[in-house]
Amino acid sequence: MTMQHVFPTYQRFPFVIEDGQGVHLTDNHGNTYLDFTAGIGVCNFGYHQPQIQQAVAEQLTHIWHTSNLYENDLQDQVAGLLAHGEDRLVYFANSGTEANEAALKLARKYTGKTNILAFQHSFHGRTYGAMSMTGNPHIQAGYAPLVPGISFAPYNDEAALAQITPDLAAVILEVVQGEGGVYAGEQAWLQHVNAKCQATGVLLIIDEVQTGIGRTGYRMAYEGYGLDPDIYTVAKGLANGIPVGAMVGRKQFASAFGPGSHGSTFAGNALAMAAANSVLTQLTPELLAEVRDHAATLWHALETQVAPLPVVKQLTGKGLMVGIHLDEQLPVSQVITQLQAAGLLTLSAGDNTLRLLPPIVMQPDDLLAGVATITQVLSALTTEV
Ligand SMILES: *Cc1c(COP(=O)(O)O)cnc(C)c1O
Repeated sequence: MTMQHVFPTYQRFPFVIEDGQGVHLTDNHGNTYLDFTAGIGVCNFGYHQPQIQQAVAEQLTHIWHTSNLYENDLQDQVAGLLAHGEDRLVYFANSGTEANEAALKLARKYTGKTNILAFQHSFHGRTYGAMSMTGNPHIQAGYAPLVPGISFAPYNDEAALAQITPDLAAVILEVVQGEGGVYAGEQAWLQHVNAKCQATGVLLIIDEVQTGIGRTGYRMAYEGYGLDPDIYTVAKGLANGIPVGAMVGRKQFASAFGPGSHGSTFAGNALAMAAANSVLTQLTPELLAEVRDHAATLWHALETQVAPLPVVKQLTGKGLMVGIHLDEQLPVSQVITQLQAAGLLTLSAGDNTLRLLPPIVMQPDDLLAGVATITQVLSALTTEV
């Protein structure tokens, strides 16, 4: 069984995920897995979560779609939850790349400037604007010419500060680089970047598509680093699996995003808004405190059991976003396959890195069971290498 009718843009594992319950998934062969992927950081509340399911089921019996030519209370309610009491407005999109596209357009239009500074090993999406801001030549290969005016700086490097100059419209960064290898920004460096942006009149855009919605134990990861972005973008976890994206920017930018300046037919779809409303309502300070607590348990287990293994070079990440950097002798694809056979689903990132993105609602016993499986599989593979 190999897919016949779809462009082969993905390397796919040879089984079908058929259903899920809580933090477990089952495939078409009847195998059950503990899920350390959440899609790719999407299903943060797991599967068949009663409140979200109820909210979407309820919306299904009402209207699914209206154009954006009418007032929309549900959109406004979700936007209000996202703005979180700050002086910010929201633009809805359908994906992470679209949210970043909106941020790029708003930054250029509002500032009247062209240039954008992004970072090496970043990932911002696959459309032309977002891809052009993605610091990975592999992803850009074959698609030239890219969007002009975008340059790159080294991440977590003081040298980057000199590249933040007044000619820039914006700097865009991830607080934890996800696809690039799960590298967390250093707090002092991130704060310097933020301060330099403010001092030079350059907008700071934080891409929270993977790090947001509780992933690092904060509503948005930047809150945990004491940053104040002008614009931030969210998507993956926002509607627990229904396509959605959002760009959140300061209220003063409204002058640049007036009627007709940007838009999307599907954006702010009622089913997505119903799911997002439920997700944001459940993303309480109590839940976030619990996520930080559970993440501490996970990291302790990783540091004591996984870090000492000879095939493990380094552990990186933050909260429930983990990178286990493996020896080049041991291809991460082989590790992922062996973990699947042992009943655990995981992801890869960057150069030979095993990436863990469990649902943020996962309890310590399941987190520890996953670490035990990783320890077991990596130990067995160590003797083979
Ligand atoms: C996944 C991701 C994107 C792209 O989101 P899509 O919904 O796939 O378009 C952008 N930025 C970051 C940081 C991501 O992890």
